[in-house]
Amino acid sequence: MENSATLRTWLDDMNLSHPLVIAGPCSAETEEQVLKIAHELKGTDVNYYRAGIWKPRTRPGNFEGVGALGLKWLQKVKEETGLKTATEVANKAHVELALEHDVDLLWIGARSTVSPFIIQEIADALHGTDKIVLVKNPVNPDLSLWLGGIERLYSSDIKNLGVIHRGFSTYEKSKYRNNPEWQLAIELQNKFPDLPLILDPSHITGKRDMIFDVSQTALDLNYDGLMIETHTDPDNAWSDAAQQVTPDSLKQIMRDLKIRKETD
Ligand code: PEP
Ligand code: MN
Repeated sequence: MENSATLRTWLDDMNLSHPLVIAGPCSAETEEQVLKIAHELKGTDVNYYRAGIWKPRTRPGNFEGVGALGLKWLQKVKEETGLKTATEVANKAHVELALEHDVDLLWIGARSTVSPFIIQEIADALHGTDKIVLVKNPVNPDLSLWLGGIERLYSSDIKNLGVIHRGFSTYEKSKYRNNPEWQLAIELQNKFPDLPLILDPSHITGKRDMIFDVSQTALDLNYDGLMIETHTDPDNAWSDAAQQVTPDSLKQIMRDLKIRKETD
């Protein structure tokens, strides 16, 4: 894979004039909330509507997602707004349900990428799919785990792959929720130049007022897309309240970003 000529990917086929944008709430909370946010994002630069329905909370006792019920809400999003949909899958049952409900893009979360058993289970369940599958970096700054996840998915004949850089946990004091460690994402991109690279500034920063700057840094580094958590009432979100932006702020962020995507 290293130094291979860059192939045309699912992202090039979309022929976008701006970076790919995946936006929507951290968690699907209610049908009304999911549809309200989706309607506000309709007709903007947003390409995929994200909502987590199985939430990997670090400790039990917090809101753990609405579960499969949320898949019906995502189907309604697609019917009512035409937006394509995205959710996180963390095991075989999730994959089967998401495929049954025709979710367009599945992502593998940071707490799953750390586990080769889970990645393999997901890869097997997705075998041969033409859905888009994005692999977040593992929670800890271990490039091999990230690479291993991608290799397992490639080996399972999953062609429409990409990666999401969501930062890495650290015990050091940091202004970030998860340190970017940009060099790790760049190293990964050098090893897999064909994989679209998407930044998740929401989980990197943990704070909405830092999202613009980190997103601009990524675009300056030629990233291909952004995944930004968006909620109509961020302060009262059931998860990740401090980092979600309103649909209006998202639109402003997209207007202000300087896009320097290379064209050759
Ligand atoms: C999320 O995208 O809401 C999420 C749980 O992300 P991560 O896996 O990056 O923590
Ligand atoms: Mn979140």
